[in-house]
Amino acid sequence: MSALELQARAGRTAVPGYLALEVSRPLPDVCARHGRLAVERRSGVVRFHEGTHGRVQSTWATNFFWGLRHYRRTPESNTELSGDWPVCKRCIWQSRVLRLIGYVFALSGIVAIVVLWMAAQAGVVGEVSMPVVLIFFPGWFPCGLVVAASAFGRATRYVRIRPIVDRTTVVIRAHPNFAAAVSVKGNLR
Ligand SMILES: [Zn+2]
Repeated sequence: MSALELQARAGRTAVPGYLALEVSRPLPDVCARHGRLAVERRSGVVRFHEGTHGRVQSTWATNFFWGLRHYRRTPESNTELSGDWPVCKRCIWQSRVLRLIGYVFALSGIVAIVVLWMAAQAGVVGEVSMPVVLIFFPGWFPCGLVVAASAFGRATRYVRIRPIVDRTTVVIRAHPNFAAAVSVKGNLR
């Protein structure tokens, strides 16, 4: 992974201080994460919030750590970067697997509660043992739900962007092939 600087242009927004950015030149047909040939483009808005060193890409983890520093509040989005992100076959496959993982982790606890409740109603289960309780807490809640939330978030995150410190530049963590394709495309223009 290498750091790639892309020029961004800011659009007008109704909210003071809010930054709506757009990458100012079309992206190449190579995905940023794997450096492979893109098979399609997915439009998506990447959101950011105020961090210690600039505007930080909002993910489950960055929101959580922001919340730890600010007494459990959630960070307010102050920047968005919209784009048509090139995705390769591997990106699409990974996104599907991550969604599946998200659903499995999110639903497993609920399904288990229903099954246990039905078993208790039928008189099969007399009392719930300690290991079963621990599987639910902290196993499923919050650990399993954290995995689910981060899997869902990661499934739709096609680019990783470094904190924005300059309003006209975004720095993407990109595969060297993507960086090379951007510079070739830039030279041709
Ligand atoms: Zn890819």
